[in-house]
Amino acid sequence: MSDASPVDAVIVGAGPNGLAAAVAIAREGYSVTVLEAAPTIGGGTRTEELTIPGLLHDVCSAVHPFGVVSPFFSTLPLADHGLVWCHAPVDVAHPLDGGRVAVMVRSLDDTVAGLGSDGPAWRRTFGRLASGFPELAGDIMRPIIHVPDDPLRLARFGATALRPASLVARRWKREETRGLFGGIAAHVIHPLGRPTTAAPGLALAAACHAVGWPVARGGSRTITDALASLLRHHGGTIETGVRVGSLAELPPHRVALFDVTPRAFVRIAGDAIPRRVRRAYLRYRHGPAAFKVDLAVEGGVPWTAESARRAGTVHVGGTFEQIATAEREVHAGRVPARPFVLVAQQHVADPTRSRGDVHPIWAYAHVPNGYAGDASEAILDQVERFAPGLRERVVGRRVMGPAAFESYNANYIGGDISTGANDSLQIVMRPRLALDPYATGIRGVFLCSAATPPGAGVHGMCGAGAATSALRLLER
Ligand SMILES: Cc1cc2nc3c(=O)[nH]c(=O)nc-3n(C[C@H](O)[C@H](O)[C@H](O)COP(=O)(O)OP(=O)(O)OC[C@H]3O[C@@H](n4cnc5c(N)ncnc54)[C@H](O)[C@@H]3O)c2cc1C
Repeated sequence: MSDASPVDAVIVGAGPNGLAAAVAIAREGYSVTVLEAAPTIGGGTRTEELTIPGLLHDVCSAVHPFGVVSPFFSTLPLADHGLVWCHAPVDVAHPLDGGRVAVMVRSLDDTVAGLGSDGPAWRRTFGRLASGFPELAGDIMRPIIHVPDDPLRLARFGATALRPASLVARRWKREETRGLFGGIAAHVIHPLGRPTTAAPGLALAAACHAVGWPVARGGSRTITDALASLLRHHGGTIETGVRVGSLAELPPHRVALFDVTPRAFVRIAGDAIPRRVRRAYLRYRHGPAAFKVDLAVEGGVPWTAESARRAGTVHVGGTFEQIATAEREVHAGRVPARPFVLVAQQHVADPTRSRGDVHPIWAYAHVPNGYAGDASEAILDQVERFAPGLRERVVGRRVMGPAAFESYNANYIGGDISTGANDSLQIVMRPRLALDPYATGIRGVFLCSAATPPGAGVHGMCGAGAATSALRLLER
């Protein structure tokens, strides 16, 4: 770390939230320094050649509906700094046995038409939410305690979102539609029979019909590259290769924001943290892990269902009940024989990811936190179930289990890619019950990671929310 002169704000961690916080403060004219432990910025938005040279794989985040609709990103000229969103013809495909498939596309009308007799119920569930999604996003992508911008729409969302996903799935009768909703809902990484598990699925489907599920051209890293470029434009600086282990290591500052987990913050803050906050942070719960397989696939994945070949995202897990069973198993600490697998085919929207006819395929399954085994064959078996012949096309493979995720990024404790379990309480109130959820109890020191509202995802809203709290102090 350089022997820096005093800065207004120091940010620890250059993930999307750390950088969003940095930009939000720097654009108000304050001096900002970001310290990042890894040799490169980006946290969960890095893109690397993981399999064969020239093939661009997203190491973590891949698909970004909340990046597009983010109320904070929407205020930034990220396109001027290199960010381009690309859309696949099909946003989400959900194959079932026997070559059946359900698809979700940006057009609500086309999606409804494809869902047959379930179409009207799909429209009733998502139509109104989607038509005002940017306004709704302003209310749901911030701490729960606030005066709503659009109380009616928020109430309509809340009435369904607080329910278990399994209850909401009963609105549809066809196995295809129920499976489609199940795959979207399973992003919550929590048993689908529990209260509030409908919330992420509801928001993700409504977001699709509002803005689609795009990828960033050239890889997810271009999202944080654009934020870093904008930060430098506002005079901010970034130092990489600096792991902050204690508050004493920070350069002189007025406010400090930490893009780290509550548990890591307790270690960093030591005795400075009030006892009640320490207790709350140590009680903060981490959720299941990801087990990821990146593939280089010649000719792409040979899905039986043609529309899956044109999809940016394919949810692999079969029927709603099969997905719900798999997620329950994970929650109980077991690896399901048939895990729920999320597949992204970014090259369908963004051909710059590929090399000739060899394409990068991103796939991960939910496994128990800290799982030390190898789930890669179970993942490939699940994909082969709907795409026989896949293995014969694989020309490169890279595997990342929970331990590898945690050593890659300290925020993924036990491989928990959501930086905290999405259980009923933490999904609405994280990291602790407080009027200002970003405050750590130490004056001028804030948490800004995905362990704060509104939680995981590349949208910068945790960083922007923490920056609002920090700016209140800076402006005094
Ligand atoms: C496999 C996987 C798939 C995902 N898919 C998606 C997706 O498709 N769409 C989506 O929106 N989201 C996705 N996510 C989630 C998304 O990546 C995260 O929610 C997001 O990156 C969180 O941002 P953050 O800034 O809070 O933290 P992070 O991105 O985790 O960044 C934290 C940064 O802080 C640094 N740091 C930590 N401790 C210290 C320290 N002591 N000193 C200095 N630096 C430190 C870390 O090195 C890291 O760079 C995925 C994540 C994973 C792992």
